[in-house]
Amino acid sequence: MLEKLAAIVGASGILSSAADMAPFVEDWRGLSQGEALCVVLPATPEQAAEVVRLCARTGTPVLPQGGNTSLCGGAVPPSGGPRPVIVGLQRLRRIRAIDPVNDTITVDAGCVLATVQATAAEHGRLYAVSLGAEGSCQVGGTIATNAGGTGVLRYGNTRDNVLGLEVVLPDGTIWDGLTALRKNNTGYDLKHLFIGSEGTLGLITGAVLKLHPLPTARSVAWLSVAEPQAAIEALSLFRASCGSRLSAFEMINDSQAALVVKHVPGRRIPVTGGGWHVLVELADTGNEASLDAAMQAVLEDALDRGLVTDAVVGASEAQREALWAVRHGVSEANKKEGVSLTSDTAVPISAVPAFIASATAAVRAIIPGLTVLVVAHLGDGNVHFIPFFSFAAWEVLAEREAIVQRIRHAVDDAAMALGGTFSAEHGVGATHLPEMARYKPPVELAMMRAIKQAFDPSDLFNSGRLLPLRATAPTSA
Ligand code: FAD
Repeated sequence: MLEKLAAIVGASGILSSAADMAPFVEDWRGLSQGEALCVVLPATPEQAAEVVRLCARTGTPVLPQGGNTSLCGGAVPPSGGPRPVIVGLQRLRRIRAIDPVNDTITVDAGCVLATVQATAAEHGRLYAVSLGAEGSCQVGGTIATNAGGTGVLRYGNTRDNVLGLEVVLPDGTIWDGLTALRKNNTGYDLKHLFIGSEGTLGLITGAVLKLHPLPTARSVAWLSVAEPQAAIEALSLFRASCGSRLSAFEMINDSQAALVVKHVPGRRIPVTGGGWHVLVELADTGNEASLDAAMQAVLEDALDRGLVTDAVVGASEAQREALWAVRHGVSEANKKEGVSLTSDTAVPISAVPAFIASATAAVRAIIPGLTVLVVAHLGDGNVHFIPFFSFAAWEVLAEREAIVQRIRHAVDDAAMALGGTFSAEHGVGATHLPEMARYKPPVELAMMRAIKQAFDPSDLFNSGRLLPLRATAPTSA
């Protein structure tokens, strides 16, 4: 098999020693590890298709992998069972075309997200998908996971920013769906099946992405608020007054803010006292003065109504950056302090306060006084609700696995009870398979399995991820 694969991609396109494969078989946090037959790095979509055809003929499992930044164990092979061929796209990195009039860019799926953003910016355009891992995740990975991030409030998630796809199907056929159309009602919109499919339906090798005018000015403010409900009412004021200029509305709680200040050098919270913190950004193609004026007007209104206890607007680009740096410091701070049981829940925006209250009560019924961190893309209703243990508390936690399971269920149950979801932007991968089995309605699982069966009847693509195993019927005694 290895010789045949090498004949397709060349000797430099295949890695098979344990040392060479190490970065591909373990996730970036070191939480999931598995085994692979080898890593194959095709240099063209045609080579990728030939690799997949060989795997289909020989019944060899295939694992598409991007930048391996998944937060739910979706991009590393399982341990045990048949070892897959990992297909990495790091040699598929061409910007194929950019059309500033049509506002589209056509790229190889192996392009790093930040490279696509930078190329668009060179042409005065914005590729609006933006997230913490953008320096290493690939466009193909963001599409396969329908990634969210900080641009969703204004520009939608990845699904809203993809116009066309090129995909190698599990039988090795290349589907050229690289259309750059904004309107195309010719039946099922097949690209949407692959967006969010997490490598289970095929290998994405190219994409046409939507671009937007590049904002030239922004205004950033930090607000102190007394409770999540006040933050939501302030969000409504911003929406009504600023419309599409509102580009971010992020909320963290006091405990989270304190950890950032403690662990990330140079970070400070400009205004405090309310107990909850909101970062607001307005952006457009105008100038800073008019954006700052719009920001000030809404803030005065919010202060008059008692929604905001205090606020500060960044007076320079350095100050705006410093405000964002607090928000971006969250992961680093939490990693230094202890263990986060991070959820990826979302509920309707109006239900966020009720969700935070009921999830907090539920986890504290399991462990009284447990620290809870909240990091919310509030404008999207996406709440990373984080039951948190210091390293010392984690070390002495009895029956750890069972407790962790109960805490996770308590948080997800709280979200589901309010019409929410247990996975808003990170995907299902391996980590959320139990929740898929627990919460997904059987009729939805049946439809998903029918789609999987139609595309990949031999279950070779990213097997054992996204779709939980069927429950086996109990045998009668
Ligand atoms: P991988 O992790 O390699 O793969 C993810 C899944 O996609 C796997 O199932 C894999 O099989 C499949 N896949 C990858 N490439 C392809 C392809 N070409 N064809 C078919 N299937 C493929 N996510 C968010 O949504 N919002 C955030 O704000 C966010 N912030 C993050 C911050 C940090 C610091 C980190 C480390 C991660 C963050 N993530 C976030 C999660 C992660 O970055 C995203 O899910 C990203 O989209 C994954 O891209 P990737 O290229 O690394 O894919």
